[in-house]
Amino acid sequence: MLSRRAFCCGLPVAGFAATAIPTIARAEVEACEAFTTDLQKAQTPDDAIAMLKSGHERFLAGKPVNCDMMKLVHATEGGQAPFACVIGCIDSRVPPELVFDQQIGDIFTARVAGNFVNTDILGSMEFATKVAGAKAIVVLGHSSCGAIKGAIDDVKLGNLTAMLANLQPAVAAAPLEGEKSSKNADFVQKVADTNVMLTVEKLTKDSAVLKELVDAGALKIVGAMHDIHTGKVTFLG
Ligand SMILES: [Zn+2]
Repeated sequence: MLSRRAFCCGLPVAGFAATAIPTIARAEVEACEAFTTDLQKAQTPDDAIAMLKSGHERFLAGKPVNCDMMKLVHATEGGQAPFACVIGCIDSRVPPELVFDQQIGDIFTARVAGNFVNTDILGSMEFATKVAGAKAIVVLGHSSCGAIKGAIDDVKLGNLTAMLANLQPAVAAAPLEGEKSSKNADFVQKVADTNVMLTVEKLTKDSAVLKELVDAGALKIVGAMHDIHTGKVTFLG
């Protein structure tokens, strides 16, 4: 039997009367129910994106669901079946689980300053999708990103120097008007947007495993941008 969570994505629902409980309570029940492998298999990539979007609407409305975390701990102790992955920045203002209002067992998250991908994160995404069955990857950039600013200014500091090199392709590709400096807020945003776009492309360009899933319609990869002033995430493309 499919979960009540299926309500969010228009899936057929067996054995559940839609009028049995009020809408708000019903949404909470759906969002607090741990994903199972069967439920994960019933989701399409578009369903996975829709669930992130509906969670984000709850976040923006200031109405996140209040789940019983220990219940979810025990519901997932035998295994996990997350429906999506988020590749995000380490920025403390953009925690994926909070901005998409997701719970234990719902999403894989990979976080690195500047939300780029390298071999390690590509491998992590291959595990999350091909092995563990997640149906979508969201590359989540954000405004006023310190890593993007550091790459623009070509900051040199310890291991940060090598890390920031991963963002230089976006710095080079972004359209520049005015000075090439982190003080140029318009350029900082354009580099952040370009970095998300390049990262989305790299996921299939550098991973045959991910490309095969996308080509088969089993995986969707999308970019998104978080505005730290409003908290709003805009899905790109
Ligand atoms: Zn950042």
